[in-house]
Amino acid sequence: MFVVMVVGAGEAEILGVKGQILAEGLTPFEHAGSERTVIAVVGEIGARKPVLIDRLSALPGVESVTPISRPFKLTSREFHPEDTVIRVLDAVIGDGSLTMMAGPCSVESRDQLFETADAVAAAGATVLRGGAFKPRTSPYAFQGLGVQGLRFLAEARDRTGLPVITEVMEPNQVDIVAEYADILQIGTRNMQNYSLLRDVGRVARPVMLKRGYGATVEEWLMAAEYIVSSGNPNVILCERGIRTFETYTRNTLDLAAVPLVHHLTHLPVVVDPSHATGKRWLVKPLAIGGVAVGADGVMVEVHPRPDEALSDAEQQLDLDQFRELMAAIVPVHEHVRSLHGDPLVSGAALGIGGGGLAKH
Ligand code: PEP
Ligand code: MN
Repeated sequence: MFVVMVVGAGEAEILGVKGQILAEGLTPFEHAGSERTVIAVVGEIGARKPVLIDRLSALPGVESVTPISRPFKLTSREFHPEDTVIRVLDAVIGDGSLTMMAGPCSVESRDQLFETADAVAAAGATVLRGGAFKPRTSPYAFQGLGVQGLRFLAEARDRTGLPVITEVMEPNQVDIVAEYADILQIGTRNMQNYSLLRDVGRVARPVMLKRGYGATVEEWLMAAEYIVSSGNPNVILCERGIRTFETYTRNTLDLAAVPLVHHLTHLPVVVDPSHATGKRWLVKPLAIGGVAVGADGVMVEVHPRPDEALSDAEQQLDLDQFRELMAAIVPVHEHVRSLHGDPLVSGAALGIGGGGLAKH
């Protein structure tokens, strides 16, 4: 549930409500909205609900107490109607601008990373990606350069000015990855690694949470809830394809998830057509498709010589192909942006699909 304070509620009234929530053994999360403050009550409420609603409603400065219908609370639009906007160095994610995350699947060497970083930065990328700790299906495949890869990423950030994003696979890597990287990535295989989610919830870095390839949208948002409820509100969602019966593509990019999560949550969402399709020639149309349905950005893998890549050789774009993608996607994004508010393209149009969504 969340407590809606009256317009102009004072510090003492807000503290009074938070104190009562703490006294009940629950946790308050304050959200200062544009008009009024709202305080979410998080924890096991159970049968106490009616009594709690009465107690909180009676406190000074409280306008109303409203249950949150979804199992995810802090990430829900009900609690936090405005879009979350994340700023990291010069990049702004979720403000209607186009976030383009680009770079190699794996950091393989300083030269390979710098060559890619310079080219994607010149072409208009806003975030540099590159894997240092690699989750590989085979234990015999290239596992990444580890900490050396993180150092190269930090050098590439200093060189290009682009914030860098890289995956953290284990709780004991969180501190070192946060030391070098600007955005931490949780990969599809770790979406439900709850101790890792809690740990990245405690660092002062935005986190990009990839959807588990076998996860429902609700499981994905519950995973995001772990991060936010651990203290980190800066979560970016990434739809990277789910496993279906189709085998021509590596996974199936769930484009419906983009407007759906915009409807359900306030967090920005990007699509990753590289891991979704596994095929280089499908990356551009699916990237454009993601932007057309309202994604806040795209993550694509780019390598100077994809055929020589140590991982995901089939799906990485070469530098020219990335420039072509940029030339094609920017006007599509401009057009979609000009339609903002049109329920056909704006996932945040909270009216759409209400009937179906209410079935909870
Ligand atoms: C990646 O982006 O490097 C990656 C491994 O992706 P995913 O977790 O989506 O497979
Ligand atoms: Mn990859």
